[in-house]
Amino acid sequence: MRIRGIGRLQRIARRVTNLVVPRAIILLYHRITELPSDPQLLCVTPQHFRQHLEVLCKKGYPLSLQQIAQSLRDGKSLLRSVVVTFDDGYADNLYNARPLLKRYDVPATVFVTAGYVGSDREFWYDDLERIFLSPGRLPEVLRLSVEGKPYQWELGPADDYDNETYRSCRGWNVSRKENPTMRHLLYRSISEILRPLPDARRQNILDYLRQWAGVNTIQRPTHRTLSADELVRLANGGLIEIGAHTVSHPVLAAMPLDLQKEEISHSKTRLEKILGRRVSSFAYPFGGRSHYTDETVAAVREFGFESACSSFAGTVCRGTDRWQLPRFLVRDWDGEQFGRYFEGWING
Ligand SMILES: [Zn+2]
Repeated sequence: MRIRGIGRLQRIARRVTNLVVPRAIILLYHRITELPSDPQLLCVTPQHFRQHLEVLCKKGYPLSLQQIAQSLRDGKSLLRSVVVTFDDGYADNLYNARPLLKRYDVPATVFVTAGYVGSDREFWYDDLERIFLSPGRLPEVLRLSVEGKPYQWELGPADDYDNETYRSCRGWNVSRKENPTMRHLLYRSISEILRPLPDARRQNILDYLRQWAGVNTIQRPTHRTLSADELVRLANGGLIEIGAHTVSHPVLAAMPLDLQKEEISHSKTRLEKILGRRVSSFAYPFGGRSHYTDETVAAVREFGFESACSSFAGTVCRGTDRWQLPRFLVRDWDGEQFGRYFEGWING
């Protein structure tokens, strides 16, 4: 049985509740830049990021992650608060994100993969993009042996990836179901194979793939990670907090606990040494519930972190576990699209 008017009353009640229920959201960005191709959907253009900041300042209350963690600890209100975070530690966070954050006076936390600070390597998923999705010619067959399991792929006509095909495919990303060429299937398959591997093993395979493809190891300026000096500049002034994101960006759940602990504690001490100050926030690499375990969370607490971010979606309210804070992944939306997502997220 349905009583007329109840639905409307419920909608009004929900709207009123939304105005008073203390709820915060944490946003997850990676890069603020514009690239010809972005298969992992990591980039937000500076223009769109500026629009996002405008929306945040108009519709919410930007706070730092530490303020949110403190409020959770003290049981204080989180009414429409919003936190900006970045993962991984790309150099564009300093050159493109920081000036805009300063202009709007919006605090942020940048979670840095410590082993890549000042490194001449690209992140492994960027390397894979360079190997498989750049125009040029590749050998016809790829044979790989990973953890004793043999793989073989025939590239067929995709061995030659000319400029025209590259241009027509460069809008492709991993969220698409289809693979326009064999190279895209390879990129996707090898990403999956490499993700759970220990860093040393992954680097061996990447060395082999680079050699197979005839690609050098020099970091592209467009895919550069922060240097130690840039990291210090990013943190200068106090608007931006630097958090830890392990040393090599592994799937922690796939590692024995002693190695997980090394990844967590070494990232903290390395960053603290560079910055000369305490690092008290952490973000789990990949950040889904399957990418870390209860032991991981316990280790993060044991090493003295005040809070830790995951990457599953959700709002933050009183009682939320501050060592598994949910975050909303932000894509390259314009201000209007972002505003719609923002309202949906903050209103629950
Ligand atoms: Zn990451």
